[in-house]
Amino acid sequence: MNTELFLNGLDELGLSADADTIRKFARYSELLREWNEKINLTAITDSDGIAVKHFLDSLLPLKYIDISGGSLADIGTGAGFPGLPIKLLRPGVRLTLVDSLKKRISFLSEVCGGLGVEADCVHGRAEELGRKEFRDSFDTVVSRAVANMTALSEYCLPLVKPGGRFIALKSEGADAEIDAARPIIGTLGGKISEIITAPLPESDIVRKIVIIEKIKPTPEAFPRSAKKINRAGK
Ligand code: SAM
Repeated sequence: MNTELFLNGLDELGLSADADTIRKFARYSELLREWNEKINLTAITDSDGIAVKHFLDSLLPLKYIDISGGSLADIGTGAGFPGLPIKLLRPGVRLTLVDSLKKRISFLSEVCGGLGVEADCVHGRAEELGRKEFRDSFDTVVSRAVANMTALSEYCLPLVKPGGRFIALKSEGADAEIDAARPIIGTLGGKISEIITAPLPESDIVRKIVIIEKIKPTPEAFPRSAKKINRAGK
């Protein structure tokens, strides 16, 4: 990764990391590139892109939201984004990384082992985990680039404890999909409490960070099957 870019971006976000943590980010970046030659993890593999579009983008919510303790699940984490960078900067969170592709979970287990990071790396589909073992389980659920807001809310909100929150990292132009998701968010027991417009440092990208509070339990009928969820999201 481009360390200078990364450090400048951290500074712009008002965040800091000690030398050991910076080394871990550098090692994570190396492992990402190595494994990406064998399995498809990400299209972003250049050192500037990893520093900005993966690491800083994952850390962007920390500028606005206190995520320093409690349990955190990253749904559809892929190569670990945004959950793993958040854990590197905020080691006090209990992290669970979830993805439906086994190879990506194998990669994450190896990275966490290599970096000495404690995290549960879980192979599974969000909507199945939300019907059983992970229902109402996490203080915070985060997700980036997994599905449109309607489908994503049904994947993620059932996993949040009542009183907890779901944080969705969306693109600048996501207003229409966020508005379209409002009814299902209410049905699932959530309420949008804030939509933050957040410029990504060292880039001209602007993010929308959607914060949804879980104000009541998700009704038993949810989450539905992936097929129904995706049909509802169209
Ligand atoms: N969040 C990562 C990022 O921002 O770089 C990965 C994004 S990637 C485009 C979407 C990921 O979500 C894939 O790794 C895919 O396997 C996973 N995924 C899609 N649907 C899922 C589901 N229902 N449950 C768990 N993982 C899912």
